[in-house]
Amino acid sequence: MTRCEHMTTIGNVTPRTLGCEECLKNDQKWVHLRLCRQCGHVGCCDDSVGRHATAHFHHTGHPIIEGYDPPEGWGWCFVDETIVDLPNQTPHNGPIPRYT
Ligand SMILES: [Zn+2]
Ligand SMILES: [Zn+2]
Ligand SMILES: [Zn+2]
Repeated sequence: MTRCEHMTTIGNVTPRTLGCEECLKNDQKWVHLRLCRQCGHVGCCDDSVGRHATAHFHHTGHPIIEGYDPPEGWGWCFVDETIVDLPNQTPHNGPIPRYT
């Protein structure tokens, strides 16, 4: 496993939005949600049209995301492209908007 030196950027964050921040603004749909563990940005996964979690990383350089919805508890470092062990799992802030 690749060693990740970005663990110090992991914080206890409050999700800023209930769903993907950009998708909610643009009225887009998403597949899964990813949470930035540095600032609490909620973005959509790479299977979604917007890929806003990846876009957030490119925009801000915040390296670590959590599998937020479904709440899977894993962490991912964009820089090292490796799974990382998160110290804890972020609880949902409220009901996630669904498009079903
Ligand atoms: Zn890393
Ligand atoms: Zn999105
Ligand atoms: Zn962030």
